[in-house]
Amino acid sequence: MGSSIKLFSVRGINIYMHVTFPLILVWAAIQFGFLAGGSWAGALFGVIVVILLFVIVTLHELGHSFAALNYGVQVREIVLLPIGGVAQLQRIPENPIQEFVIAIAGPAVNFALAIVMGLVVLLFDIPLINPAEVLTNLRAAGPNAIFSYVFFSNIFIGVFNLLPAFPMDGGRVLRALLATRLSYSQATSIAVAIGKGMAWLLGLYGFLGGGFFLILIAFFIYIGASQEEQLVTMRTILRGLTVNQAYSRQARTLRPDDTLKDAINLTLSTFQASFPVCDNDHLAGLLTYPKLVEALTTYGPDTPVEQVMLRDVESVSPTDELFDVQRRFEEDEVDALPVVQDQHFLGLITSRDVSEVYRLLSIDPNLLRNNGQVKVFTAES
Ligand SMILES: [Zn+2]
Repeated sequence: MGSSIKLFSVRGINIYMHVTFPLILVWAAIQFGFLAGGSWAGALFGVIVVILLFVIVTLHELGHSFAALNYGVQVREIVLLPIGGVAQLQRIPENPIQEFVIAIAGPAVNFALAIVMGLVVLLFDIPLINPAEVLTNLRAAGPNAIFSYVFFSNIFIGVFNLLPAFPMDGGRVLRALLATRLSYSQATSIAVAIGKGMAWLLGLYGFLGGGFFLILIAFFIYIGASQEEQLVTMRTILRGLTVNQAYSRQARTLRPDDTLKDAINLTLSTFQASFPVCDNDHLAGLLTYPKLVEALTTYGPDTPVEQVMLRDVESVSPTDELFDVQRRFEEDEVDALPVVQDQHFLGLITSRDVSEVYRLLSIDPNLLRNNGQVKVFTAES
């Protein structure tokens, strides 16, 4: 994450702050300072409550993350953005119970926090102040006002996230519940349609005076719903198809003792960007384009590829499902994987191969299903 700054890590999950995050603090200082008639007290109040709210958002995301880890789903990172937090899960389980638990775990943290804060209110006899009242008297806002504002905002965060606006938490809960009765793709279609409807309503409300943030959130919900819909459509279309039906047999390879100069020649004279490095027909490594560029700046062009190639390369088998391979392209941020069977190198599958199959099957879903041996020709030389 080049555009984020690492804050700390919990149970192996790195928590990052996006570089644009400080904007929200500036916004809060101006907004609350202005509300308090241009006072520093108001600006300070704004900055403190926003920081506290982001502590709460982080706990909310950790709620999702711990639930995911519990099901063996890796969590890549949590990123704090000006409009909220995102826990980046390696995948969303198709199992409705697992998706339900992971989705509900975030808001559950907010409700648990509300109970704890409520107990503090009762034990220490703290008079809660209505947030609207806090805002009209920001100049005199003390710890009480901060506590009250954060208390009510925390409840709001929990409730807001439960709106059935897929892919927000409530939308995921809805899809999980629908998926117990319907097929996964039907459940997704309904959740996506409701999510898009909610996005329009929220956006409209934002335009009518609800504020710019609401418009922004509506926009993200709409985009997110569309992406999830696409993912599920892709899964439905690619279901049952294997690497064997799409990989490039004529992939060009390098030998371990070839030089970076040879690699440059191959890069320039073919469509390929990644080259498997093979010792006879055994896969020894992979030279990707970024790796080649990096190696050229560090070493000279006469360096053998063996010295700079990626080792321990993940490979796929001809019988692997295309959809799983597509997901690995996205998760591992690579665009080509070597195809290997019984330790023999067979060819290369690229994200372009998969999108070609996808596009052809979108035209005719039965195009490749009658004969498992049908080959989709690719542009590779
Ligand atoms: Zn959440």
